[in-house]
Amino acid sequence: MDDDRAARAIRQQVRTDRLFGLEAVPVRPAGSSQPRQTSQNKSQALRIMDEQEVRKCTRCDLCRSRTQTVFGEGDPDAALMFIGEGPGQTEDEQGRPFVGRAGELLNKMIVAMGLAREQVYIANVVKCRPPDNRTPVPEETAACWDYLRRQIEIIQPRVIVALGAPAAKMLLETKVGIMKLRGTWQSFNMVQPPIPVMPTFHPAYLLRAYTQDNRAKVWSDLQQVMEMMKK
Ligand code: SF4
Repeated sequence: MDDDRAARAIRQQVRTDRLFGLEAVPVRPAGSSQPRQTSQNKSQALRIMDEQEVRKCTRCDLCRSRTQTVFGEGDPDAALMFIGEGPGQTEDEQGRPFVGRAGELLNKMIVAMGLAREQVYIANVVKCRPPDNRTPVPEETAACWDYLRRQIEIIQPRVIVALGAPAAKMLLETKVGIMKLRGTWQSFNMVQPPIPVMPTFHPAYLLRAYTQDNRAKVWSDLQQVMEMMKK
């Protein structure tokens, strides 16, 4: 096709599109409202957010007491994402999420699911350690929320596991407690398509209340996640 004919064909296509109410050529895959990103693009977008924003962040008072920020880690293309509350002492020292005792338990949970830690992505609602490991206050979670929302948008996991009440409340925009939410499928609706969320107990809570009943509940929640991942 010569240049004139190609130009005429494009003009005709545009006129036809306008007849059907289309003003622009779609750039996203059918059925998706977000552009697909390659693993490399995702990795780069996460690294830039960490290096240029999170590490320098002073949006809330937690910046004063932190040793370092804890952005999150794992496969940038992970199908499964675990989201906890915030860094503890060991995480604050090492700059990595879930590396203390609770992290060891999370690792065991991941292995029991037939996965390796490197295959999932792990992050927290707040990126700086609250003093004395207290629960982050609403002002702190609100200040930090945009980072986590963007991490989810970039990674586009198929399933999210919310570990504990603060993560579940932020992701699901609810005041319902973790005791009622856990074990029931919920939905993270701030991205399209929405992402299924399984709320369960935080590993730190499980360590404090290491009963057979609680362990069975968490394992049952994770089994539901494994079933969902097969679909
Ligand atoms: S917790 Fe989040 S919002 Fe607050 S200073 Fe740290 S990175 Fe910034």
